[in-house]
Amino acid sequence: MDFRPDTPKHFGPIPVRREHLPAAHQGRADQQKETTVPRPNRKPKGETVRQREIREGREANRRKRRSARITLAPDSPPIDPGTGKPYRPMSRAEVMAAMEGRAWAGDAADVKTFTPCSRCGGPCGTSAPYSQPWRTHRACRSGTTIQSRVRAAVAELLGFEIGFSDAGLIATQVAVANFRDLLDAQPHTEPERAWGHVNKRKLRKAVEALPALRSEAGLNPHPCASGPCAWCSIRLATGWVNEGMKWADGSPAPLCGTCSAQWVRRGGLSGRLSKTFYEDQRGPGYNVLLGYDQPMGNGPDPAFRLYAEVAPADHPGYDERFGYIAAPMRPGTPEHAERIERERAEALARVEQRRADQAKAVRVRAEIWGYGATQ
Ligand SMILES: [Zn+2]
Ligand SMILES: [Zn+2]
Repeated sequence: MDFRPDTPKHFGPIPVRREHLPAAHQGRADQQKETTVPRPNRKPKGETVRQREIREGREANRRKRRSARITLAPDSPPIDPGTGKPYRPMSRAEVMAAMEGRAWAGDAADVKTFTPCSRCGGPCGTSAPYSQPWRTHRACRSGTTIQSRVRAAVAELLGFEIGFSDAGLIATQVAVANFRDLLDAQPHTEPERAWGHVNKRKLRKAVEALPALRSEAGLNPHPCASGPCAWCSIRLATGWVNEGMKWADGSPAPLCGTCSAQWVRRGGLSGRLSKTFYEDQRGPGYNVLLGYDQPMGNGPDPAFRLYAEVAPADHPGYDERFGYIAAPMRPGTPEHAERIERERAEALARVEQRRADQAKAVRVRAEIWGYGATQ
């Protein structure tokens, strides 16, 4: 039966076996043998007005969806890793206003040798990224914050690595500007040493003063006047806060920085967790003990208690986190690793024992049935 006349034309020719074709068509079928799959967006021949309207409507919808996807704004602005605050890029108008009055006497693109990097001032080859009229090292481009500039300058001038928070402290002591922002900087001049415009002596002094700067900024572990941490019992920590917890006698109990971060993350500030009922706080406290956030729906061990719940009246605290909990129950201690290993071995032995018991029971039954052991 030949059904081809009933098939809409825009599906293209129907693949048919060669032996079913009349002899006159054999040659043509050879040419288009494997080319019978229709292309999706091709305008079909001979479509009706209604078919065309449907097709055009569909294409318009697809276009609308695609453009909506591009213009959608993100839910929250990106966070500037240097300041920890939401990052708001300057608009074109703001950038132009900031650059007003600044006349560049030349352009790095006109120089065929080395030009100064817009951030560090070191020599940039012609392959370095160019943004009119400056060239910038590829590595320097990612460091837009004051902290990353200080880190780069310390690594280049003094030869060692420092952390982001230390870099922030040093930035309060020494000016580490972008080379581009120096009053006499020009994009086409002879390059200098990278970060050569930073006062090396002042930088070294600030690095040497880091311990003092850290303790001034509260970045060294120190005790809290209200006692150890109400959750983890640690005595020396950073970032002490009063979140409204109390010792048994009603005096205020502080949280250390680590525990308060967990408290905030679990909605403590929004009032979702009770400040006075420690049962509510055991879940987040247990996460601090584990060192990671438990998956949703997993609660703390029923026997787990926070330090303020079990502390004696003088709540002396401990040098280690959760020092009031026996070592085998505290992750990170050798005793804990030992206990986990022992329990795993015991569980394995139980499974083996059960398997052996079952095999024995089968043998016994087999003997009762009269054909003895089967294996
Ligand atoms: Zn550079
Ligand atoms: Zn704590």
